[in-house]
Amino acid sequence: MVKGRKLYEGKAKVLYEGPEPGTLVVHFKDDATAFNGQKFEVIEGKGVLNNRISEFIFQRLMDMGIPTHFIKRLNMREQLVKKVEIIPLEVIVRNIAAGSIAKRLGLKEGEPLPRAIVEFCLKNDELGDPLVTEEHINAFGWANPQEVDDMIHLSLRVNDILSGLFAAIGIRLVDFKLEFGREYSPDGMVRTILADEISPDSCRLWDMKTGEKLDKDRFRRDLGGLVDAYTEVARRLGIISGNNGGGSGPKLVKG
Ligand code: ADP
Ligand code: UDP
Repeated sequence: MVKGRKLYEGKAKVLYEGPEPGTLVVHFKDDATAFNGQKFEVIEGKGVLNNRISEFIFQRLMDMGIPTHFIKRLNMREQLVKKVEIIPLEVIVRNIAAGSIAKRLGLKEGEPLPRAIVEFCLKNDELGDPLVTEEHINAFGWANPQEVDDMIHLSLRVNDILSGLFAAIGIRLVDFKLEFGREYSPDGMVRTILADEISPDSCRLWDMKTGEKLDKDRFRRDLGGLVDAYTEVARRLGIISGNNGGGSGPKLVKG
């Protein structure tokens, strides 16, 4: 499949025009960034793993009736998606205190939250993606009340599905970030659908037995072993076979 011109290069992915109108080719890079781009490293193999893990998760969510932008994986680094108008918010769902909420509210990292908490941050790198409330979202028109409702409901359903999926492979889903977009149909209808990626770059995943971090905190906190951790997540999900001979799925190759 021939991809069209480059439309956008972000911190972790590059977007190209897709083969049909209304489609995009998303290319997953090996670049890792944190703290608003202040920390940067190229981690060989990360893009391939995120492409495969995100594909797997989006497929499972679609099986459960969640509307998403995902169409199909094209190769080891690229996937074909529906082009949407991204709602300029990051939706964060938290089950356990970690990262910014622990700092902000003085919670101990690892403390279970009273219930799943949904937060919104404005997608704005210059401002460091500040936390915003529904009042700000409505007042500034970043999303309408129906879209806010859709995002909350879909995020909580995604949380239920993914918490179960990861628990079944001995991984605790601590928190994660979602992005949503507007899909316009030819008859003028607009639908809120899940976009971007769901991968260890955008989730906190802790091994249930050992507490080991299997996510981007390995990079943020200089723990090392990021590719090994992401490979372990992919192996447990059954996406790739392990080095120890477990599983019979396809071998992960560089692409
Ligand atoms: P960033 O823009 O934060 O550096 P990435 O490198 O991940 O992040 O870039 C991917 C960009 O593509 C993000 O800005 C994201 O909002 C956008 N995006 C994800 N899915 C879609 C989609 N289906 N249609 C249009 N844009 C998308
Ligand atoms: N997250 C993300 N992109 C962002 C900010 C957060 O994917 O720009 C994810 C992050 O990986 C974690 C969750 O959202 O799984 C909550 O992140 P938090 O607010 O604790 O931010 P951080 O600790 O990274 O500052």
